[in-house]
Amino acid sequence: MASGSADGERDRVTIRKPPRTPGGTGSRQAASSPAGDGAGQSGDTFEVRNPADGSVISSVPIHTPAEVADTVARLRAEQPAWEALGRQGRYRWLGRWRDWMIANGENIADVLQEESGKVRNDAALEMPGLADAINFYGERAARFLAEERVVAHSPLMKTKALKVVYRPFPVVGVIAPWNFPLLLTIGDAIPALAAGCAVVIKPSEFTPLSVLELVRAWREDVGGPDVIRVATGLGRCGSAVVDEVDYVHFTGSVPTGRKVMARAAETLTPVSLELGGKDPLIVLDDADPERAANGAAWGGLANSGQVCISTERVYATDAVYEPFLAKLTERVSRLRQGADQPPYTQDLGAMTSPAQLEIVEEHVRDAVERGARVVTGGKRRDGAGDFFEPTILVDVDHSMKIMSEETFGPVIPVMRVRDEDEAVRLANDSRYGLSAAVFGEREHAESVARRLEGGAANVNDVLVNYLAFDVPMGGWKESGIGTRWGPDGIRKYCRTESLVITRFAGTKSEPLWFPYSRLKSRVLGAVGRFVNARGLRGRLAALLRR
Ligand code: NAD
Repeated sequence: MASGSADGERDRVTIRKPPRTPGGTGSRQAASSPAGDGAGQSGDTFEVRNPADGSVISSVPIHTPAEVADTVARLRAEQPAWEALGRQGRYRWLGRWRDWMIANGENIADVLQEESGKVRNDAALEMPGLADAINFYGERAARFLAEERVVAHSPLMKTKALKVVYRPFPVVGVIAPWNFPLLLTIGDAIPALAAGCAVVIKPSEFTPLSVLELVRAWREDVGGPDVIRVATGLGRCGSAVVDEVDYVHFTGSVPTGRKVMARAAETLTPVSLELGGKDPLIVLDDADPERAANGAAWGGLANSGQVCISTERVYATDAVYEPFLAKLTERVSRLRQGADQPPYTQDLGAMTSPAQLEIVEEHVRDAVERGARVVTGGKRRDGAGDFFEPTILVDVDHSMKIMSEETFGPVIPVMRVRDEDEAVRLANDSRYGLSAAVFGEREHAESVARRLEGGAANVNDVLVNYLAFDVPMGGWKESGIGTRWGPDGIRKYCRTESLVITRFAGTKSEPLWFPYSRLKSRVLGAVGRFVNARGLRGRLAALLRR
């Protein structure tokens, strides 16, 4: 037995060498992987724990780079038939998967809850999102990927019919974090599958079990084609995925995103990166303080603050600060936290990653040392499980980590600002730009939202831009490159092929072809000048020029 990281990274999970005794190390057998024959040949496994009580619930194979290469080769072999099924044919399969998900939602929520420590309500939110994504892209793939017929802008190209067709990348790699184990894996795989790609998913080492179960169901219960596989492991497994696939969709932290992009540069593999955030929430003078407070409480504390678009900092203008803070304190103080058994008895669950819990503690400690005041919460909870109390901090400023670095935990720092100009300036004073929220009179709040530097802004709500599949979601600045959702959410999984088709090919040659001659060159030059010049006078002058 050995404990530590396969990559020389900071220890994240416990790794075990092949047990000499059958039966694995946990209460379940080592999870079999739908990655196919030969998965987990090294015999190394990592433990998956329940963060709400610390118990080991499973051990999962660590796939070697050679196994990842084999997985991708098998997907590559299956992909052409999947593409040939056409959009309707693929939607039929995805629709059967959707029906399975709807029928088995409670079982999947059980697995999700156990591996992530989420409360039941948060675990139950993921499945409807997947079903919606299947319907969204299933019903719109034909429109979003429709062949485009383009009219040539230049008269000299009118002899050609121009078309743009979308052709899927054969194999897409989806590498994901632990905070939404299904939405950020299967959810981002769905548009790729709808486009005709095959997909290898590399889930987080903290939360691979629900993904494994859904992909098992695709193969065994739905009987779907072998176009989705899971590669399980740590960072080295993720790197191997980057090396093998044709397109990488990565969701995770900024430091890992940089590594992924650098690695992908080696093979010139395109990437989209959905990275961290430090989302601001602005409360304007004319906001309803109670709605803003309830929104901030949910935006900052849903899923224990482990949402990329969590409310990570609040700026309340002078006029509204006191009533807003009073309502927020009242709301947060009443929240219940713990292992949510029986379900729906708690509002906040555990922190899924112990390393993240340490970051939250460090940010709160740093803020307090620099003069912040804890209004409620402020510390790790005693007893079993990895819980951090729902926390409100005031008297904060931008010298503190809590206002400048991603905390990714259940902490809401609230800063009093003079007016909206100061709020906008501070909101934009960040290396991140994922999303934001503004509370106030509708048009006023919208005008403020338009001044913010980020990929999305919710007006009088929080977090919901993630669920608006119709519009892109992506980060500015260090929050990422590219977007998910909207038409580009499926187009990005395709390469464009431009077809330039000669309308009349009855002649033996074309003016641009050999042989060259002085006369031909002069005629072509004159035509080029005439076409590109503007205005009658300009055209005549261009024609006469030599
Ligand atoms: P992480 O970057 O540590 O890990 C993400 C994934 O990358 C994991 O599966 C991990 O095993 C894998 N990985 C690690 N090293 C790798 C390497 N060298 N090459 C390839 N893959 C590698 O992130 P995390 O701690 O799991 O997740 C939290 C982060 O995710 C937060 O920063 C959060 O903001 C971000 N996030 C962003 C979004 C978004 O849509 N923008 C959504 C959710 C979470």
